[in-house]
Amino acid sequence: MRFIRSRKPEALTAEEILTWAIKNFHPHLALSCSFGAREGLVLLDLMHRIEPRSRVFVIDTGRLPQATYDLIDRVRDRYRKTVEVIFPRAADVEAMVREKGFNLFFESIANRQLCCRLRKVEPLDRYLVGMDAWVTGLRRDQNPTRADTPKVEIDAQHGGIVKLNPIADWTPEDVLKYVREHDVPTNRLHAEGYPSVGCAPCSRAIAPGDDPRAGRWWWESPDTRECGIHVGEEEAGSGI
Ligand code: SF4
Repeated sequence: MRFIRSRKPEALTAEEILTWAIKNFHPHLALSCSFGAREGLVLLDLMHRIEPRSRVFVIDTGRLPQATYDLIDRVRDRYRKTVEVIFPRAADVEAMVREKGFNLFFESIANRQLCCRLRKVEPLDRYLVGMDAWVTGLRRDQNPTRADTPKVEIDAQHGGIVKLNPIADWTPEDVLKYVREHDVPTNRLHAEGYPSVGCAPCSRAIAPGDDPRAGRWWWESPDTRECGIHVGEEEAGSGI
């Protein structure tokens, strides 16, 4: 942490934070990328330029849209990169579906949170065991609960490893500018009105001017729309 301590992390650029992190933590450092938000792809591109062997993972919940699987394969081809695909525990999902059905998430908040926990949170927790640090695409202006997101923090939820949010101070325009300048591959559903793309049954397109979060778990009230990965935060754009 010496480099980070010598200059305040907030003063560092995304490239500087990632360079420091790769130098200190690789290969026990990985990017969490949902392949459903531009932020994760920007970080993938940035990390790949610094270290082509930098690691990236995606959680395949089993309910992702075809466009997301297509993008994962495009990224593998474009960067000649292994994408580490993490799956939920089959026995847990089998038991949940057997008892509650495939579309349990529409029936209650508790069911939706159970599905997110088994399909997303548990696989993430399991993957991060043994890692020293992980990278997310959180940005402060995604919603009020993210307004204080630091660029570097200790992740108490995952055993005190380092959590890096290198583009916390970027705006949506910064993200789009980087995508265009570097021809970063992104999810084709953005062009169909999806600001972020999660699981197929729980994401939908929004109308121009709608809150960008309106397409995620739209049947719930806004204060329950989080998956548990970033405590107290909604997941759009987080990389999960
Ligand atoms: S987003 Fe929907 S389908 Fe995906 S894990 Fe959560 S409840 Fe299940």
